[in-house]
Amino acid sequence: MPRIVIKGVVQGVGFRPFVYRLAKRFDLRGYIRNLGDSVEVHIHIESPEFIAAMKKEKPHLAEIESIEITRSEEKEYSEFSILESSSCKASGSSLPPDLAICDTCLKEILDFRDRRYLYPFTVCTDCGPRFSIIEALPYDRENTSMKSFKLCRHCLDEYTSPESRRFKAEPTACGECGPSYELYRGSDKLNENPIRKAAELLKEGWILAIKGVGGTHLVCLATSSRAVKEMRRRLGREKKPFAVMVRDIKAARKLVFIGKKEETLLESRERPILLLKKRGNKISELVAPQLHTLGVMLPYAGVHYLLFSYLNSTALVMTSCNAPGEPMASERKDVLKLGFHDYALLHNRRIVNRIDDSILRVVAGRKAFIRRSRGYVPGAVSLKRSGPDVLSLGAEENVTACFLVGKKAYLTQYIGKTTSPSNLEFLEESVKRMKALSGADEIEAIACDLHPGFQTTQLAEALAEEQGLEFLKIQHHEAHIAGVAAEKGIEEGIGIALDGFGYGYSGEAWGGEIFFFSGSDFNRAGSMKSFPLIGGDSAVRNPLRITAGLLLGELEEEEVNKALIALGMERFEVEILIKQWNKNFNVFQCSSFARVLDAVSALLGVCRERTYEGEPAMKLESFAHGVMPELDMPVRFEREGKIEVFDSAKLLKACLDYLNSGESREKIAASAQKALATGMAGLAAVKAQDYGVKDIVLSGGVAYNEVVVGEIENIFNQQGLRLSLNENVARGDNGLSLGQSYLARLRI
Ligand SMILES: [Zn+2]
Ligand SMILES: [Zn+2]
Repeated sequence: MPRIVIKGVVQGVGFRPFVYRLAKRFDLRGYIRNLGDSVEVHIHIESPEFIAAMKKEKPHLAEIESIEITRSEEKEYSEFSILESSSCKASGSSLPPDLAICDTCLKEILDFRDRRYLYPFTVCTDCGPRFSIIEALPYDRENTSMKSFKLCRHCLDEYTSPESRRFKAEPTACGECGPSYELYRGSDKLNENPIRKAAELLKEGWILAIKGVGGTHLVCLATSSRAVKEMRRRLGREKKPFAVMVRDIKAARKLVFIGKKEETLLESRERPILLLKKRGNKISELVAPQLHTLGVMLPYAGVHYLLFSYLNSTALVMTSCNAPGEPMASERKDVLKLGFHDYALLHNRRIVNRIDDSILRVVAGRKAFIRRSRGYVPGAVSLKRSGPDVLSLGAEENVTACFLVGKKAYLTQYIGKTTSPSNLEFLEESVKRMKALSGADEIEAIACDLHPGFQTTQLAEALAEEQGLEFLKIQHHEAHIAGVAAEKGIEEGIGIALDGFGYGYSGEAWGGEIFFFSGSDFNRAGSMKSFPLIGGDSAVRNPLRITAGLLLGELEEEEVNKALIALGMERFEVEILIKQWNKNFNVFQCSSFARVLDAVSALLGVCRERTYEGEPAMKLESFAHGVMPELDMPVRFEREGKIEVFDSAKLLKACLDYLNSGESREKIAASAQKALATGMAGLAAVKAQDYGVKDIVLSGGVAYNEVVVGEIENIFNQQGLRLSLNENVARGDNGLSLGQSYLARLRI
């Protein structure tokens, strides 16, 4: 009889009951079972119609990658049935991510006649948590944190009946038998209807911790400046923007402008946070101060919909509940210990795999991940080529790890900054989990950043030694560029990395780099002209020091002195700065593109103190938003050693002159941003001609800036060059691990 093996996303999506119903329809006898990484179907006769229908009518969460048909000598079956899962090992994840509650389940919880009325954990085979609750494959209830909830008679009926939407829906439950919410004041439990009371408390302006799918949010009314300010105080988070959850798309349109592509992403079952252009001022200015964008998401868990059903307001601030630089709190004791909340709405289903909300932005018409996590992980990113299995651990900020297995890349959820021991532990756990889910059990190499001081570098080295694997260090910007090459299948071209900092081959701080690449060979072909960063980290926090460093390349000390004082820097600070520069004390040379944007931002008085990553440059983009870049700016190149460099000091000097002549600051900001993009695009175009290639890839932390990306794309379009950017992994360090493992694979 024919044996059919189907690979793809076929577990946890209602695939087996679907095939069962199909087999009944075609009068077939045999069985179906899970094999861990695939499902296996035996039928008593050949049936091309059955296979065609399987492809055509598959459940909408399922993705069929391959169908393999062989012959097998099995006994005859008298009917079609679903067998217990086999415990075969996995290879190539087939587990879907955590998805938003579906419309059918949502209707049930809002219908007072339904037995699941107001039950927030309602799910079916089409929706609900998966990754956040799984401990091991195969995806069966005993391998999830639902195992501690014994199904009631009703639920068991549904779970075992192939006709039901909840047949083998592993996380299924109801108010009788499933997890439930409880409300706490501080750490004392309250005896009230928890969700309704929580909504009332939010209305009154309290700050709540609310445990959801992949972790716990800190929540308050987005319209209450008092509540938002208090939340900032408790979190020690002065200005970094918060995201909001809005009731529905209609409510979202009142706060932000939403394009077609953005609407699709916002309403997708992955339900990411989307950065959108603000419209009007209906919520507190303190939510995303001085920015023209606002992070918005729609409800995705039952509890969110229920909260909004009790609330008359349309937007809630929702941010991960964690101490700065630490992983998000997921369990009750951690939330209560942090104590950021006035009240806490918590449930008793364990979160096995913490996972933060994903963040996206549509940049110059293309989808751009800022953070790829809930809704997307553990889904694989498809590659064009296969090769040996490898693992990489990212850099230091916004870390993810990445396994390459065959033609697939598996990135872990967002880990955060690995300078904290608990985040490093979180990374190790996530690597273990992803290894099991991806079936990467024959890893040949482990890769990391070139920076010797990163925790991830040390961890990678230790793991490689322990397991006797090859160990590779990959230069930061080569990895950024390789990530695009991997995703888009580009073998040869010019790569541009516009970034903060990355460790160069001789320890320099790179960050505005142009490479020619061919396979795994990289040739540094151009760069921003390096400039002094006076005071190192202190210059990053006080970007007017970066401005000073750039101006010192163009002006006499005396003039810089005068200019800085005119810009508002204290006299004594200017003196120290110049002294430091003269003695070359704590002065670093850098070629970072992002730092030049910071310098412009500080010069124009847009942002002179950086309190979060990217702040000065993000505020500069917002400040210049919608302004015509019509001022002439010098775009000059020169040779520095073997490479050609773009001189941004001249540009800074021009900005200062415009400022002194009373030109509009917005216009200077817009024109400087554009000129910086023009410079790097021009240099890259020349290199493309030198090397005779048409493909240019762009990556790095600045590849989210709409003006910069838009301008670069314009220039390349005019010259017949093709621009590619990452669309399925993040362009910043959150996606760095893809490029690291891709290059490691090519270099072993
Ligand atoms: Zn559902
Ligand atoms: Zn039940």
